Amino acid sequence: MNSNDNFPEPEWTVEEWTEAWTIRVGKAYACLVCGNMVMVTKGGVGVMEPRCCDKEMEEVERPV
Ligand SMILES: [Zn+2]
Repeated sequence: MNSNDNFPEPEWTVEEWTEAWTIRVGKAYACLVCGNMVMVTKGGVGVMEPRCCDKEMEEVERPV
């Protein structure tokens, strides 16, 4: 049995944080209202929350 069962979330390591905050090239977002689309062409670290038509844009897979 795991004695850490009552422990909430384990602490994030630096690597996990870096992973979570990395903006990957090729990540794309689409506006479900007007069909507008944006794609990340240069990677970076931060939070990507593109908005269009006063709504959050939906993350989409990179078009093939
Ligand atoms: Zn839009």
